Amino acid sequence: MKKRTRKSNRPQVERQVSSTCHCCATKDAWIENKVLQEQEYRGEMHQIHVNVLTCKHCPAATTTHQQDENALAELRHAHVLWLKDYVAGARKIFGLTVRAFEAKMAISSSTISRISRGEKLVDASTEKLLVQTLSELLTSHAYQTMASQPDVIKNHVATWSSKADIAEYEGIQLAPCG
Ligand SMILES: [Zn+2]
Repeated sequence: MKKRTRKSNRPQVERQVSSTCHCCATKDAWIENKVLQEQEYRGEMHQIHVNVLTCKHCPAATTTHQQDENALAELRHAHVLWLKDYVAGARKIFGLTVRAFEAKMAISSSTISRISRGEKLVDASTEKLLVQTLSELLTSHAYQTMASQPDVIKNHVATWSSKADIAEYEGIQLAPCG
């Protein structure tokens, strides 16, 4: 059997951070700080805590390879938890059992249980399909909720800027949910 060679675009040598600040040339410049950052993953923004190195003397900041790896793991974890909450929230809104949800979304129960446990990422294409379908259902559900609650409609209409928006809303055909 032929041995597979590892192909990667990433450099195999770890990026080294010099102890001297690249900006102000202070020696032994770096102090590790935990900061809150907003980062995007698969189109969603997540707030995560990451460790960075900041210079004691100037506003320069940098990260080690390990800090980058940790931040990515943190970001993926935040995304997994986000999807878990998103799916759980949607299921609650629609009042669907796991089985009904499975049938409606046409995804396997193993994938659903993986999402509900919030342990691992599901593959990007499955997630995309799921989120897209759910977001469409939630939008149409929101319109139906508005239609059944006149006060909510009134408040919404009041915030809409043009009559065209209202006309568009009034033209929406209501369909049963589910
Ligand atoms: Zn500096």
